Amino acid sequence: TSRPTDPDCLFCKIVAGEIPATVVAATDQAVAFKDINPQAPLHVLVVPRAHHGDIAQLAAADPELLSGVVALADAVASEQADGQFRLIFNSGPRAGQSVFHVHGHVIGGKELGWTPA
Ligand code: 5GP
Ligand code: ZN
Repeated sequence: TSRPTDPDCLFCKIVAGEIPATVVAATDQAVAFKDINPQAPLHVLVVPRAHHGDIAQLAAADPELLSGVVALADAVASEQADGQFRLIFNSGPRAGQSVFHVHGHVIGGKELGWTPA
């Protein structure tokens, strides 16, 4: 079976290597690359290779793939920081989602405050 992709999707293009990114880790399931506008010493995006719009759609369609995305986030935090991390999935434009290929923000490398809203 072929993996879902969207030819107009920025992160599908990064996964395919058609747009450059600083990839820091990758598996068969997922790719991790540095956010272009980092908000913390560690700010990496983890994305499934397959195109899914948001975390709920990914969880419903392929829970094992979501698990793979979380595992890659954990591996990146261990390799690039102290293993501790915040994993943020913005879901919907009002929540700050601007790219509609699900991505987790792996944030860490410093003491994090808590200002969710
Ligand atoms: P969102 O706002 O959808 O939760 O997160 C999108 C993230 O993607 C933002 O933090 C933004 O800085 C990052 N971003 C947008 N375009 C690019 C790009 O072309 N390359 C990389 N590496 N990050 C990007
Ligand atoms: Zn995509």
